[in-house]
Amino acid sequence: MTKIKHVIGISGGKDSAALAIYLNKKYPKLDVTYYFCDTGKELDETYQLIKNLEIYLGKKVAHLTAKEPEQAGANPFDFYYKAFRGYLPSSQARWCTKKMKLEPFEEFVGDSPVVSYVGIRGDEDREGYISKKPNIQSIFPFRRNIWSEDVINRVLDNNNISTIAELYSKQLKGTALKRALDSVQKPFAEDKHYKEVTSRNRKEKLNSLLDAGVIPFNQVVFGFLKSTDYPLALTEDYPLLNNEDVLVREDIFKILEESGVGIPGYYHKKEYEVDGKKGEYARSRSGCYFCFFQQKIEWIWLYEQHPDLFEKAMKYENEKEGFTWNQNESLKDIIQPRRMEHIKKEHLRRDGKEKSAKSKFLIDILDNTEDTGCTACFI
Ligand code: SF4
Repeated sequence: MTKIKHVIGISGGKDSAALAIYLNKKYPKLDVTYYFCDTGKELDETYQLIKNLEIYLGKKVAHLTAKEPEQAGANPFDFYYKAFRGYLPSSQARWCTKKMKLEPFEEFVGDSPVVSYVGIRGDEDREGYISKKPNIQSIFPFRRNIWSEDVINRVLDNNNISTIAELYSKQLKGTALKRALDSVQKPFAEDKHYKEVTSRNRKEKLNSLLDAGVIPFNQVVFGFLKSTDYPLALTEDYPLLNNEDVLVREDIFKILEESGVGIPGYYHKKEYEVDGKKGEYARSRSGCYFCFFQQKIEWIWLYEQHPDLFEKAMKYENEKEGFTWNQNESLKDIIQPRRMEHIKKEHLRRDGKEKSAKSKFLIDILDNTEDTGCTACFI
């Protein structure tokens, strides 16, 4: 039987690190390969986290860099920055993630069947930016629904109702079966003009099936996959089918702290002062130090805590007229005293609101933008 490769991409963020620890502890027999795609522009704290993880796991994390810059002996980001003629990446033009994260990963795994574990948490509502190669299947162990959107769409497709009903009849009996079949046999309205309605209906159907039992649902999906080309069709047994855990943000910090791996250094808050009042800031995620997904307060954090890196980020903006990391605002403008004061005041105001929502953890959410960006860089 063809062997499936199990992989976890370590981004340098808290969730992928916690996922590696969690799977290693809960499923020690799962032979997982760890990898990290290096852009050459990561924070030192990311490399430290990877070292700590290697010690804990007793295994190396493979460092992947894009092939072309490696052959040219160049820094990965700078190589592509030049190839793209000085066009800085942005949320609309994500060449950075594609070239330095997805492509090296796809090259690394080749065409063999792969199950890739993704650390999107149970308290997040997003799918993430994942590889669409048919030999790569994504699994989300922290969520109640461990399956990827493409798998769910096929399972819930109105054309597959009778297949799914039959698979359920092998898993459940009596009232439990009746309850599940009530949901399975309810087709949802496909409305091409109102995509949102269709996706809401699909979500409702998915949730009612999960409510009828997570393990039977997983068994049904696993049975369904047998008739497809997904990598998990190749295995007789899969331990995560019995996983009913749902892990949220607080669990992630607990895993990192209790394992001794620790929380990535950039999450630790530093104090700032504005208008005689004290506030705290930190960086909210991993990735390149100049990442365009960061918030204004994080740029101020970079300026004040890592002035050398801020200077380097500014240099890129100065190289090509009209290109800035942030839309409509250059880094030179962000660090003008009045602008910095305004950003800090605004952050202090929002932080106060969040504190009143009472996070009992060492590290609180900087704001609610954590779900933007990509699974390849920030998880
Ligand atoms: S961290 Fe940001 S800049 Fe770096 S590769 Fe990811 S999206 Fe691009």
